[in-house]
Amino acid sequence: MPLFDYSCRECKHTFETLVNAGETVRCPECNSKRVERELSLPAAPVVKSANTCGSGPPCGAPGCGRMK
Ligand SMILES: [Zn+2]
Repeated sequence: MPLFDYSCRECKHTFETLVNAGETVRCPECNSKRVERELSLPAAPVVKSANTCGSGPPCGAPGCGRMK
């Protein structure tokens, strides 16, 4: 189940909740349905700089110089 961040337009409370399809999200503070989903970006992937995987097999990490 996806976990989303919401902010309440009534009381400005922010919360995160699991949302099932078709389910109405309500603010846990004021029970308002006037909530907006926050656009939270996924965590940035850890980009390894080239040659950090040493002498092992290519690690497949983005930017790993041993991919080539
Ligand atoms: Zn609220």
